[in-house]
Amino acid sequence: MTQRFFKGSHCTFCGAPFTNRYARYPRDCACGSRSYVNPTTVVQAMVPILSDDDKPPIGLLVIKRGDGRWKGHWALPGGKLEIGETWQEGVVRELYEEAGLETSADEVSILDLRSAQMNPYTNHLVLFGLLKPRKLSDLPPFVPSRECTERKFLEQKHIKDIPYYEEREVIKAWFQTLNQPVAESL
Ligand SMILES: [Zn+2]
Repeated sequence: MTQRFFKGSHCTFCGAPFTNRYARYPRDCACGSRSYVNPTTVVQAMVPILSDDDKPPIGLLVIKRGDGRWKGHWALPGGKLEIGETWQEGVVRELYEEAGLETSADEVSILDLRSAQMNPYTNHLVLFGLLKPRKLSDLPPFVPSRECTERKFLEQKHIKDIPYYEEREVIKAWFQTLNQPVAESL
């Protein structure tokens, strides 16, 4: 019989195969160990883009994915948090890797967080980090890569171009706050 390997196919302690590949987690093995699968943390960067004449924000920085599940689609710069970094550091790293923008972790504040069920076995915790607004003319030149082929600012009327549900909802809510009058006493 051919041995098949896939994520979660075997006990992570003794290497014995799980007889029921659809069993729920946590899974108990005959070796006495318990295997867990936890949500993946994803960080996303929200950078408001200002027009060059200091008018209110005109959009959010987005990139076009060049590979993976969302190839050819617009998205906020972002990705999976890596071991050893804070979520703010993850936002800064993704923003630099994908959009070429250099920032610092102390600039990042939490805007929103969502749980996203990808399939019965995978869910993501998505953290949305908000950064200071940038003027369009202050952005560094963009160098396309295999991962990210384009960069632009997303306008409110183009929110539907974002295919990922949780991301689209958070972006929609952010644009709505811009349209509300600001209390002068604040
Ligand atoms: Zn085991």
